[in-house]
Amino acid sequence: MTEAEWLTSRDAEAMLARVGDRLSDRQWHLLACAVGRRVWDVIPEGDLRDALKWCEQHAGEAQDPDALDALAARHAAARAAAPEQARAAQHAIVRAADPDADPDSFVHTDERKVNAAVPLFQAASRYAGLSVEQAGEAALHAAGVVSLLAELPPGEDQLDGVRRCVVEAGRIRTAASLHAAAALKLMAAGDTAADLDNGKNVNVRYAASLEKVTKEEESLAVKVGDLEEAKQRADRKAVARYVLDIAGNPFKLYRMMPEWRTEAVVELAKAIEEARAYDRMPSLADALLDADCDEEAVLRHCRGTEAHTPDGPAHTRGCWVIDLILNREPAFVAAPPLVPPPPVAARPAAAKGRPPSSGMDRLLKALQGADEDEDDDKPPTL
Ligand SMILES: [Zn+2]
Repeated sequence: MTEAEWLTSRDAEAMLARVGDRLSDRQWHLLACAVGRRVWDVIPEGDLRDALKWCEQHAGEAQDPDALDALAARHAAARAAAPEQARAAQHAIVRAADPDADPDSFVHTDERKVNAAVPLFQAASRYAGLSVEQAGEAALHAAGVVSLLAELPPGEDQLDGVRRCVVEAGRIRTAASLHAAAALKLMAAGDTAADLDNGKNVNVRYAASLEKVTKEEESLAVKVGDLEEAKQRADRKAVARYVLDIAGNPFKLYRMMPEWRTEAVVELAKAIEEARAYDRMPSLADALLDADCDEEAVLRHCRGTEAHTPDGPAHTRGCWVIDLILNREPAFVAAPPLVPPPPVAARPAAAKGRPPSSGMDRLLKALQGADEDEDDDKPPTL
């Protein structure tokens, strides 16, 4: 991987293969926490979110076993409660579509043979119920993220586990939202169909309702089917952006002169990190300029004007600039810059224009012991 490839890479695996052995336990742990935060909204409020924050604040530290036990006890209880908490919240959202109802309980309300609203209400109730179940399942995966962060040692295995849980939690949570939206839409369509029920053309309207349900089913199947790939893609991109924020550009060495670490700079860096107030990073660039900092890469990262991050950097705890200012990760900072791999030597041009040797030529060469063509493609014998 060259420097240019590194800076524009969206391939987290390739980046970690290049830089993983240089990252400290703290940096691995913070990377996993940043990935875990991608499902922050799916993690129920309370002890689980507190546990994730605690992991960030104590990333990579050798833990006091008593503190870990206390944390584990708190978050185990919260994890057990998470699915029900999420189901209750989702239930409130789709209450109108009656998620608890047995779809078969929607019976015809009069003696007429068909009621055009019934298929719509049945489908609405089915999707509402599914949405509530999925909300619970997503919360369980999100709670799993916190368990992995709190219980596994930092490193590749922890990160891989967190990524899998985040993808699953995100996929199922989005499916829950899609099903909730479909439930409410079908419920509204059912209400409209019921209002129109004037006894005329009821068979036609019943068939139209069935068609509406089928269309919704088909559209949902496509959207839900695409989620897995979309979430995997988003995961690779997000992890790559966090690796870039934590590792910076490992092909370069950066200067951070002691006199640039003024009280204003250090206090602001700490405040931004503590409050995750990364929108204040441009102010950090101003404070650094006031201290006569002229390290352009540092200033650009703070201002979000690096050429290789057109969407702006994805700052997270462990951001290389904040770490540099706060004098953290000295071993990582002092490591010699990565060296790009040597350019691949161009293959010798095919012997264009050389007349094909005739059988007689080959025979003559063989007799002279000078036939070099035969073994060209064979690997050397070792
Ligand atoms: Zn950053």
